[in-house]
Amino acid sequence: MAKFNTSVKGTADVLPSDSYKWQFVEKKMLETASTFGFQEIRVPVFEYTEVFTKNVGETTDVVQKEMYTFTDKGDRSITLRPEFTAGVVRSVIEHGLINGALPVKACYVGGCYRYEKPQAGRMREFHQFGAEMFGAADPAADAEMILLANSVLTNLGIKNLSLEINSIGCPECRAKYHAALKQYFASRADELCDTCKDRLDRNPMRILDCKSPVCKAIADDAPVMIDYLCDECKTHFEGVKQHLNAVGLSFTVNPKIVRGLDYYTKTVFEFISGEIGAQSTVCGGGRYDGLVGQMGGPSLPSLGFAMGIERLLMVMASQGTEFPEPAVPDVYIATMGEAARLKATKLCMDLRNEGFTAITDVAGRSVKAQMKYADKLGARFSTVIGDDELQNDRCVLKNMQNGEQQEVTLSDGIVSAIYDSRIDAMIESVAGNTEDLETVLNIAKKQ
Ligand code: ATP
Ligand code: MG
Repeated sequence: MAKFNTSVKGTADVLPSDSYKWQFVEKKMLETASTFGFQEIRVPVFEYTEVFTKNVGETTDVVQKEMYTFTDKGDRSITLRPEFTAGVVRSVIEHGLINGALPVKACYVGGCYRYEKPQAGRMREFHQFGAEMFGAADPAADAEMILLANSVLTNLGIKNLSLEINSIGCPECRAKYHAALKQYFASRADELCDTCKDRLDRNPMRILDCKSPVCKAIADDAPVMIDYLCDECKTHFEGVKQHLNAVGLSFTVNPKIVRGLDYYTKTVFEFISGEIGAQSTVCGGGRYDGLVGQMGGPSLPSLGFAMGIERLLMVMASQGTEFPEPAVPDVYIATMGEAARLKATKLCMDLRNEGFTAITDVAGRSVKAQMKYADKLGARFSTVIGDDELQNDRCVLKNMQNGEQQEVTLSDGIVSAIYDSRIDAMIESVAGNTEDLETVLNIAKKQ
């Protein structure tokens, strides 16, 4: 296979005909986050490798097997971000945000890189939307993060996801749990896969996350963290549940959720879809009270979540979710002759400056070919201009949807005719639709 003209395994292109879906999803995500007071943070695609090894955790799959790490020309070890949290924590400490008003609320959208086995819902370059909150210890914060994730998913029109929550405790109660877990797995050590044999000493909780069927079956009977929670962690978890109940968000407690990254403490949660096969977790997150301190900042209770955009789009495709139609050109101006082409360039610029989408021929094709192209684009109006039209300063503007034609002046007739038609379309779209009419009136009132 030639490499110079194929994409790398595990990556995908988003083509112009599909990008409106991504734009819609990302916009909704950021807008929803903003209603919760979260503003976007943009961090680099690559960081010093230590940002991830130290903070995602040496014993995690992500660090041990999945990172894209390379040495740059200045002999630095660099890693493409496999996730955002570590970089965001690095950034908020480096810029002193956590010394200002707390909690700090930040959200992000962008690509992540993991060397995993590509399959449905699992890519080597994939995209996440996520949010982080720094400096909030109360269970209300955990609930707010879960509610934010839920609102994003709901506002995208996604249905039928299940929310599963768990508590994986704090370092104190987890030490006792680790001991119990180690004892359990040690009794069946010879059945475990090689990676898990190694995990037994280093981090027995990782075995619970192993994808091998044998280890999974053994893990099914393992002790669960929730039975080992200390009083503080127990009370915190009860608080989270109360807050979720208070808004009527249904959830199930799944004592098996441990999450794949080391930094989590107390609450962890996942949103799961039954419609996209084995890679079914669309969103995962939780509290990471130790991470900011571990990264050189003050001890600051914090939490976050991330959702995989590719997996969300798969759910939306399977549910037939509707996306707002991408805009079609308002007008296509076909030209005959060089003078008309010059005029069309000017006319198109006038229209674009008014906010309309105006297209004209830039390929030097026949009028017939130009009109075929206008049809393909789905242009709402079209006109043909040649020497006669230039001389009379008039042209015939054709409504491509209903075939109606009107004669307008070239100078400002095209702009005002298209402007009028847009207003008509707006009026028509709200007429008889009280809900839209109310929205329009509400917007008008606010302005
Ligand atoms: P999984 O158990 O599926 O490997 P994870 O625990 O590694 O997920 P996180 O690190 O929590 O996932 O990332 C959050 C979300 O990002 C996941 O729930 C998923 O939707 C998405 N995601 C993670 N890895 C991939 C990938 N390789 N390809 C596509 N999406 C991914
Ligand atoms: Mg993973």
